[in-house]
Amino acid sequence: MNIPRTSYPRVVIIGGGFAGVALAKKLSKQEVQVVLLDKHNYHTFQPLLYQVSTGGLEPDSIAYPIRKILKDFPNFYFRLANVNEIDSKKNKVKTNIGNLKFDYLVIASGSVTNYFGNAEIEKHSMAMKTIPQSLNLRSLILENFEDALLTSDLNERNALMNFVIVGGGPTGVELAGALAEIKKGILPKDYPDLDTRLAQIHVVQSGDCILKGMSSKASQKAEDFLEKLGVNIWKNVRVTNYDGKTATTNTDLTFETATLIWAAGVKGATINGLNSEDFITKGNRVIVNKFSQVKGFEHIFAIGDIAYMEAEDFPNGLPMMAQPAIQQGEQLGDNLLNLIEEKPLKSFVYKDKGAMATIGRNKAVVDLKNWRFQGVFAWFVWMFVHLFFLIGFRNRMVVFVNWVYNYIRFDREARLIIRPFKNKNNL
Ligand SMILES: Cc1cc2nc3c(=O)[nH]c(=O)nc-3n(C[C@H](O)[C@H](O)[C@H](O)COP(=O)(O)OP(=O)(O)OC[C@H]3O[C@@H](n4cnc5c(N)ncnc54)[C@H](O)[C@@H]3O)c2cc1C
Repeated sequence: MNIPRTSYPRVVIIGGGFAGVALAKKLSKQEVQVVLLDKHNYHTFQPLLYQVSTGGLEPDSIAYPIRKILKDFPNFYFRLANVNEIDSKKNKVKTNIGNLKFDYLVIASGSVTNYFGNAEIEKHSMAMKTIPQSLNLRSLILENFEDALLTSDLNERNALMNFVIVGGGPTGVELAGALAEIKKGILPKDYPDLDTRLAQIHVVQSGDCILKGMSSKASQKAEDFLEKLGVNIWKNVRVTNYDGKTATTNTDLTFETATLIWAAGVKGATINGLNSEDFITKGNRVIVNKFSQVKGFEHIFAIGDIAYMEAEDFPNGLPMMAQPAIQQGEQLGDNLLNLIEEKPLKSFVYKDKGAMATIGRNKAVVDLKNWRFQGVFAWFVWMFVHLFFLIGFRNRMVVFVNWVYNYIRFDREARLIIRPFKNKNNL
């Protein structure tokens, strides 16, 4: 990999997501060599992926080059690499561009879509976990409307304009809201010769409420907002299969649809070598202690979505969200230095800053620790928080300008079929 061996200890980080970047920044001015490996050369701001899928934002504005984030720091190396295996005995990672020895290894590989073992759903449904997947979904949505214009078969037309979102978590809710706004504000203008009232958006949720992790007030309000936007919410219904045309459920309900978006869950993106039962627990996550050390190792760590760390308030592990990932990355930076200097390590304590979701224009729900609110103010708070956490001044400006423009013009100008839809999810 052409990375020199120096007198500094080498910290290898797998993954330049929220956790990996927070850690690399923390170590950037210290006497350690940091090597960050990622299969993409950019950091993805996943909370805004749904806006890329629905033409609200261009993909470039939610991605940021990893090299640029850490460009000013000495002893930092980035390599575009897919890590295939961890050899914990020889302290080595094996990648598609070669092998690399480490003194300390941090697994920050995040998560992947969880299809719960259903290969057919995996083959035919759309995922929204990466920028290429979001662009693929954007193309599919737009191509479906183009095809709907051409067909004279009413059933086929309905299926092309039927969107089924599986999962009523923040991703499903935000996507449903955005699609409903497209139906209302964009489709009648773009397709005046198509009866766009036929377009239907369905959210299918296996539990008895949407936004399960949030307060009951937030959940109810989000449901009200979605219903006002014309979204059909199906609770206590589980999608059991999808063959590319028909989605079946555990009830009598079926959906004829050309687009099924799978937002029903994620699981840890484990890497060979550390994927045995000794290390892995529910959700395919790597078991770590309070210092983020992988069970059984002093010098191998896991942070972010991939890490399963229990806490008093979270007996089933910390949530797979950006905040735990960032906080764990920052704290591990301090602890790695403590470890190198043979000082005691500090336990990780998660500061829960709350949760939020937006449903559409002027509609959001926010749960802070001591304050819960919904509606227009919540929507402004949601926008401010997302702008704040986006990386890069240019990205913040572009997103801000886009949002103002879209708000004033009731528009989403990135509705472009740049690269035709590919029936392939492992993008
Ligand atoms: C659509 C969507 C919406 C979301 N909305 C919110 C939200 O509103 N609020 C919130 O808090 N959280 C949200 N999340 C969750 C949040 O994005 C994750 O919890 C967070 O990204 C986890 O950070 P991470 O660093 O652990 O992993 P990631 O940010 O996923 O980063 C993992 C990195 O590892 C790289 N990688 C993986 N495997 C390998 C390998 N083998 N070799 C090399 N590189 C590898 C990947 O390319 C990626 O860059 C959302 C997630 C999605 C998908």
